[in-house]
Amino acid sequence: MRKNIVAGNWKMNNTLQEGLELAEELNGALEGKEINCDVVICTPYIHLAPVCATIDTDLIGVGAENCADHLSGAYTGEISAPMIASTGAQYVILGHSERRAYYGETNATLKTKTELALANDLTPIFCVGEVLEERENGTFFDVVKTQLEEALFGFSAEDFAKIVIAYEPVWAIGTGKTASPAQAQEIHAFIRKTIADKYGKEIADGISILYGGSCNASNAKELFANADVDGGLIGGAALKVETFMPIIEAFN
Ligand code: PEP
Repeated sequence: MRKNIVAGNWKMNNTLQEGLELAEELNGALEGKEINCDVVICTPYIHLAPVCATIDTDLIGVGAENCADHLSGAYTGEISAPMIASTGAQYVILGHSERRAYYGETNATLKTKTELALANDLTPIFCVGEVLEERENGTFFDVVKTQLEEALFGFSAEDFAKIVIAYEPVWAIGTGKTASPAQAQEIHAFIRKTIADKYGKEIADGISILYGGSCNASNAKELFANADVDGGLIGGAALKVETFMPIIEAFN
């Protein structure tokens, strides 16, 4: 069956030293504990190799927050999927709403990035989600469906089955507003049904669908208790062990 996953997204936070300290502290907090989900930290590129070398990667998965839409070559400032894989990282966040909004990432670009990630054995954590206006005018189901169709539904069932989906309503990211457990379950069930319609029930039932958007110690348990919510993608609360651990422990 599908995995429960709690993944942190550090965004553009932490110097190298601060990041290493945070990763080591998290490693220490997880050692010897009963943990009922996979734990992942997605860090800025510079942290990937030293974090992978420092922590127990059986205990904590490591991921990047983006990757280039090319394999190699004259793309100054970009980091490719094979470069990320060469650090020991196993995951990559793709299509985060901040990348879509501030860096013009389209579903077409994200399809290419996902292809490159999969070809280099990275597990994409692929973000979908609507803005506030789309939530309020009721178009959010269509918005999320289009994001899935345009970026991901060209893949074979075998490849699609390797992807983790993160539903992140843009209006809930970093705002302190969270989707209610009922709102989360409604759209997660819709995402799973949309996947089932395309790839069949077996594939849909095996896909982990994470919730992201102001998830914290006090709402994680209720959100994760929903049948179609398989964990969380966590921003702000992943930056301190004392706020990240209770979210991980929400599965206990
Ligand atoms: C995110 O950016 O993926 C996120 C969910 O952020 P936050 O938890 O801070 O809302």
